[in-house]
Amino acid sequence: MKHDLSEQKFLEYFESLTGRRPRVNHKGEAMLPCPCHDDRNPSLSINARKRVWHCFACNKGGGITQFEMLLRKCDRATARRELRTWLKGKTSGGEATRREIVETYDYTDETGVLLKQVVRFSPKGFAQRKPDGKDGWIWDVRGVRNVPYRLSEVMHTVGTEACFCMLLQNHMLSRV
Ligand SMILES: [Zn+2]
Repeated sequence: MKHDLSEQKFLEYFESLTGRRPRVNHKGEAMLPCPCHDDRNPSLSINARKRVWHCFACNKGGGITQFEMLLRKCDRATARRELRTWLKGKTSGGEATRREIVETYDYTDETGVLLKQVVRFSPKGFAQRKPDGKDGWIWDVRGVRNVPYRLSEVMHTVGTEACFCMLLQNHMLSRV
């Protein structure tokens, strides 16, 4: 995994876990609070150039796959699958269900019937889905009527992410 991962993506990965962009020195190294445990004094050392990490508290180290295994307490195959999903799935809805949903935005018609939903994921990404009529979802909103969302409200609560959300929607609509 570490060979097909750019330095940029390596840093983005840790940013998505810690909520902060790692500030690396001239060698590409940084110290971060380890997301695997309560860590007030940063004990996670990363090297973006070599795509490796070592946590002095966990007393473990390795590449990004090993970190994913440690964090999720999963096996290598699962970790690699999760990472692949994360790497390619920032905006695509294809594997969207694997990620954690942190927010949903309902699009309803005049009578309040739900037409579709825009879903925001953690760590990053948006997707759209529509009800399948059987208490489930279909991750494809082609053919769904375009209705305006209460934009002012979204802008107020999530700021620039709402803009992205609208851009994504327009982009998807343009492909229908
Ligand atoms: Zn640790």
